[in-house]
Amino acid sequence: MQRDQQIFDLIQKEHERQLHGIELIASENFVSEQVMQAMGSVMTNKYAEGLPAKRYYGGCEIVDQSEQLAIDRAKQLFNAEWVNVQPHSGAQANAAVMLGVLSPGDTILGFDLSHGGHLTHGSPVNFSGKLYRPVFYGVEQETGEINWDNILEVAKREKPKLIICGASAYSRDWNYQKIREAADAVGALVLADISHPAGLIATGLLNDPFDYCHIVTTTTHKTLRGPRGGMIMMRKDFENPFGLKTPKGETRMMSSILDSAVFPGTQGGPLEHVIAAKAVAFFEALTPSFKEYQIQVQKNAQVLAQAFVNRGYQLISGGTDNHLMLIDLRSKGLTGKLAENTLIKADITINKNMVPFDDKSPFVTSGIRIGSAAVTTRGLKEQDMDRVVDYIDRVLMNHDNDTILSDTRKEINSWMQQFPLFSY
Ligand SMILES: *Cc1c(COP(=O)(O)O)cnc(C)c1O
Repeated sequence: MQRDQQIFDLIQKEHERQLHGIELIASENFVSEQVMQAMGSVMTNKYAEGLPAKRYYGGCEIVDQSEQLAIDRAKQLFNAEWVNVQPHSGAQANAAVMLGVLSPGDTILGFDLSHGGHLTHGSPVNFSGKLYRPVFYGVEQETGEINWDNILEVAKREKPKLIICGASAYSRDWNYQKIREAADAVGALVLADISHPAGLIATGLLNDPFDYCHIVTTTTHKTLRGPRGGMIMMRKDFENPFGLKTPKGETRMMSSILDSAVFPGTQGGPLEHVIAAKAVAFFEALTPSFKEYQIQVQKNAQVLAQAFVNRGYQLISGGTDNHLMLIDLRSKGLTGKLAENTLIKADITINKNMVPFDDKSPFVTSGIRIGSAAVTTRGLKEQDMDRVVDYIDRVLMNHDNDTILSDTRKEINSWMQQFPLFSY
């Protein structure tokens, strides 16, 4: 067959872009070569609707074993009793949970999207905001942190059926116990969406949501450093408290509700090549070096945050407990959009982000979000973080000086050569 030179040229260019730049997008990471090998394997050829040993197609003996390995390793990693590794993404995992446990029109209580919450926690443009009635809790303006005692009050007023913890841009840890207390007071279920900090949670560096949250969803590609995908977990299976019954009137356990909410509820055939790569990522995450990596991620984030504070930048909540931080650029007279567009000229990749109580639109924003997971995979340590912030500050303070921008880019490109990513 003729080779598709156009696409392979583009893949090569993307490879070089990743090598030359400083990657600070908090939701990104670099997977290992064995994770990529599994993703680009013959497993993609197999249809396997259903679950291991309960499939709708023949020839599943091998993918049964690899999917079972992914499940068993995820259970071990998070000390969970039940896992479904089939969700194609974090959004798909959340869709399956909500379609499984809620009815249209039910109230869901999530973290305010404009304070760092996720689209799938009730945005009006997402299924979660169209099918359900979304209400929100947020951070306090003075502290930039969630006031855990307020959640009970909101829950009593709004009577949600599901309370969602988790965010895409919150730099502090979560008090899952307080959320559970609020949920118990109104008979709601708790979903923890740990898409961002999953790797830090798996290695015990942040609070463990599993004892307090009925259901936990995550992506596998952020701090967990696996292939792009999602999964759903529970530490303990339980009988559905909302009394959903099978068509025959039998009581259904939550695991059975969630399994059917993934397939046939919201998905068709699972991506067995991605599931094999998830298994590889969990294998890596169960080794001691993964814990060392997460410790370094957290240290690097703290040093980054301090370096920004030292240069007069304003961080929401003043710092970070996890791998990311949110910076309000208004005191520097800049917008998130300008910062993102200028930094990319020096091959520094970040994303513009709304800050709590932002007065600008999501297309402009007052802030930027910065994360340490990808640069830590690359091998950057504490002493390199000050240099990263120096570059960012230099670029932002000279955003209209093309000579400084292109000189900085060259300096960065040659610095990053010291941190090889791939062996080919
Ligand atoms: C990234 C993220 C998701 C969605 O993940 P996708 O794989 O992009 O669908 C869901 N929830 C939270 C909190 C996230 O940060």
